[in-house]
Amino acid sequence: MILDITPGIQHKGYDFPFELGEAWPEDFWGGDAIAYEEPVRVSGVYRITEEIVIVEATAEAAILAPCARCLTMTRVPVRAALSEAYARRREGDPKAPEILEEQYLYQGHTLDLTDAVRVALLQELPSRILCGEDCKGLCDVCGCNLNTTTCSCQKDAFDRNPFSALASLAREMPDAPYSTLGEDQTEEV
Ligand SMILES: [Zn+2]
Ligand SMILES: [Zn+2]
Repeated sequence: MILDITPGIQHKGYDFPFELGEAWPEDFWGGDAIAYEEPVRVSGVYRITEEIVIVEATAEAAILAPCARCLTMTRVPVRAALSEAYARRREGDPKAPEILEEQYLYQGHTLDLTDAVRVALLQELPSRILCGEDCKGLCDVCGCNLNTTTCSCQKDAFDRNPFSALASLAREMPDAPYSTLGEDQTEEV
């Protein structure tokens, strides 16, 4: 995601509006494969003062990430504010301004916004993505998706051990007394 800053170099100190859109390939975040459903969009302004480019923008994307319960790829619209400083890379120049380690760098007349936009967007992803609040998840025994398939595992378990099957049913039911424990705790059991 490349921003041409030629006008800003010619007119330092002025705000220049910009708008970029780019289709991104599949990606990984938190150990999960994710995808960008439509082109990632960024719009904002940049301004050059001395050797530093300040970018203030908003990034938007529709990210496909797996549901925490059933693993179905789920669309999550994400919007992130971006405020970054890019320092000009000047290798071997003893008079180069001190560059902070976490600061982004640029060279020539272009900025590569990809890393900053990617991190800003992915940090906005919820830590627990659900395809729906009532997602039934996967069967513990056969692994089938209980939202779309009915298996007989729960019934078989009930035949073998009615008490443990009842306990697991109670955990799954949102209106059960166990639900006062909170979603995360009931999921962990
Ligand atoms: Zn789900
Ligand atoms: Zn099953």
